Amino acid sequence: MVTNLHRTFRPARIALAAGLALGGLQIACADMGDHGRGADRRHGGGGQELPQASGPAYKKGVVAVANPYAAEAGAQILERGGNAVDAAVAIAYALNVVEPQSAGIGGGGFMLIHLAQHRRTFVIDTREKAPAGATPDMFVNVPNASLQGVAVGVPGMVRGTALAVRKYGKLELDDVLAPATQLADQGFAATARYAAVSCNSRSQNSPESAAFFCPGGAAPVQGSLVQNKPLAQTFRLIARHGPDCFYKYMPQKGCDIAKGIVEGQKFNRPQAPNGKGGSMTYADLENYQAVERAPVEGSYRGYPIKAAMPPSSGGLTILQMLKMLERFPIGDASQGYGFGSVKTINVMADAMRLAFADRSIWMGDSDFVPVPSKGLLDPSYVGLRGAAIVPGTRIDPNPVPGDPRPYEIAGLQPGKRLAVAEPVTGPGETTTHFVVADKWGNLVSYTNTIESSHGIGVFAGYTREDGSFRNHGFLLNNELTDFNTTPSINPYTGGPGFNDVQPGKRPRSSMVPTMIFTPDGEPLIAYGSPGGATIINSVFNVTLNLIDHKMSLQEAINAPRVSITSAGSSIARDNGIAPAAPLAQATVDGLTALGYTVGAPADIGSVQAVLVDPKNGRQYGAADARREGTVIGLKR
Ligand code: GLU
Repeated sequence: MVTNLHRTFRPARIALAAGLALGGLQIACADMGDHGRGADRRHGGGGQELPQASGPAYKKGVVAVANPYAAEAGAQILERGGNAVDAAVAIAYALNVVEPQSAGIGGGGFMLIHLAQHRRTFVIDTREKAPAGATPDMFVNVPNASLQGVAVGVPGMVRGTALAVRKYGKLELDDVLAPATQLADQGFAATARYAAVSCNSRSQNSPESAAFFCPGGAAPVQGSLVQNKPLAQTFRLIARHGPDCFYKYMPQKGCDIAKGIVEGQKFNRPQAPNGKGGSMTYADLENYQAVERAPVEGSYRGYPIKAAMPPSSGGLTILQMLKMLERFPIGDASQGYGFGSVKTINVMADAMRLAFADRSIWMGDSDFVPVPSKGLLDPSYVGLRGAAIVPGTRIDPNPVPGDPRPYEIAGLQPGKRLAVAEPVTGPGETTTHFVVADKWGNLVSYTNTIESSHGIGVFAGYTREDGSFRNHGFLLNNELTDFNTTPSINPYTGGPGFNDVQPGKRPRSSMVPTMIFTPDGEPLIAYGSPGGATIINSVFNVTLNLIDHKMSLQEAINAPRVSITSAGSSIARDNGIAPAAPLAQATVDGLTALGYTVGAPADIGSVQAVLVDPKNGRQYGAADARREGTVIGLKR
């Protein structure tokens, strides 16, 4: 549902009074003079027609966020003179308040930043790390591992966002945290989505989280006031003392958050036998470092693309898929392709299967394992792999991983192939993606997560000597179940699986904040999605929609998506968002005839995006009504 909301800051009471039902919203204080796809055709290098957006255009900044309150927090920071980095950090903290099931300071993510002045694009990697005591077999025989303390990785968001603000922001950290602190303190009106996902089995994993997310044993009513005073207090501590107050136990300063994390992750699910707490120590927390990394780079039909690098599998996988499809005229309906045709989905499906086969063994934390990033994207290697795609047929049997190493380093021979365990994670209510553009032309595309819905369902906190619970108000992640949960063997090297647990290692991610540049190298579109491994495919679908199917930004987001996250043949799909039509039954039948299984429709991802017109600097936002996507643009 798409709703409009008044632009100025809405403390809880206003929204409560309005009894809001929030859906995908577009809040405009915009230059309205640029409507319609045909209004302003833009061209890139070589006379190519660039992807475009319809709707209101902005110049002073725009945010596209999966929640209206967090969008407002970002807009406020832009209005106060903050840049895109400041606003992105404000949004990330605000999302901890209003979308606590998805992301927050108990977790981590990838923040893709483009600095206009320096024409520099890089990622701040805030991915969680395994503690020093982690072992490859630590999940073996642990029931419900994703709800146990052993799944908690050392959180990265606080360190990485503080670094971002200090090095690249214009405001101070305490200014940037102010809107989120206010939201947590004064509260907000439970949105439809908040109410729908708050009281689930995961959120009730511990007594304190059950009491908060299922007040009185039931889901909070939409529109009811949600306050998180403990979280406001935690934010104030971080604002006052900086990130060390999160990562170091300093009781003399009142900094006891580290104690809440270390004690919280000892949770061993006492309600069932054989639970297992985590091994995280104060030293693990103190040692956590966020890392600035160069993104993975490639191109599709002449458009440079930059996306999250390892430990995320996202950038490598999506660039492989795109490259495999470049030889097909995906946009050309006269040749049987075009959006939603059997032929298009057939080649998309097999590209996904091939790339996900490679992903299953070659991608992990490149600080620990030799991810063959160059080989995986080498044109000869991708060409060879992609040659298996033959329109009108389905690759059968299922593709196995290839060996990109000869394209990376000559002379290595494959070893014996063995089965590789894949951890079971899937799309749920978790993770969040948002984008910010500012008036200086800086862009931030940020995907952030605590992994499954509500992480391990346990707040950071500890029991005081008097028996009361000191609650820090944020949920602990279960990111470590993104590792292979059983030790595996890399079939080519014969050594441990690239995504097996190791102390200090980051689990492989699928998060893929992405930017498309014009053929001339100007930043054009920033986007991304939540959805576990389907993240990669949501970004893949949207990329084809923009570049091949010539959809506007919002159309590209609304269109129904297809996804395969393994070498298998089961296609997941969604119905898209009206006015986009669902896939035709004839397409489903055609794919079934080729041997694919096509599942019942269920939402895939939640893409937020911003497009900047390189010709005139106009900024356009687009958000996903699959969740509560919201765009706010600043007045001219
Ligand atoms: N933890 C997942 C990843 O890093 C994201 C989870 C989700 O999007 O649901 O890939």
